[in-house]
Amino acid sequence: MSRRPPPTERAILALMSCVFCKIVAGEIPAKRVHEDDELVAFEDIKPEAPVHILIIPKRHISTLNDLGSGDDALVGAMIRQAASIAKARGVDATGYRTVFNCNAHAGQTVFHIHLHVLAGRGLGWPPG
Ligand code: AMP
Ligand code: ZN
Repeated sequence: MSRRPPPTERAILALMSCVFCKIVAGEIPAKRVHEDDELVAFEDIKPEAPVHILIIPKRHISTLNDLGSGDDALVGAMIRQAASIAKARGVDATGYRTVFNCNAHAGQTVFHIHLHVLAGRGLGWPPG
């Protein structure tokens, strides 16, 4: 079994100041809707739709660019969790949007990957 390399000093500093790592650790409150060994899902603090939930890995990963091939199952679990939450909220048939923002032009503001699940109203396309 391959072992992950130890985090660099820069990665440790990012992790210590990461708001989503603090939510995982219970140091910042969040309205959790799901938790398992790998993932936490919680209500977005500034909802852009009647349903706006964020699904995050418990492990700190800054952006989509930092995913490795060993993370395929983790990302799959995030997407399957989105479908499960949509079903629980009764929006699976009416529809929902899943979004990963990556870096500046996509508007990423929290550098711990998160999957937005948005639903409960018609969502415009293309996005602004
Ligand atoms: P993004 O712009 O894709 O990086 O999205 C970051 C999201 O995190 C935004 O929708 C914020 O409203 C949300 N957010 C930031 N801080 C918190 C927090 N403490 N609890 C819940 N959601 C948060
Ligand atoms: Zn983090």
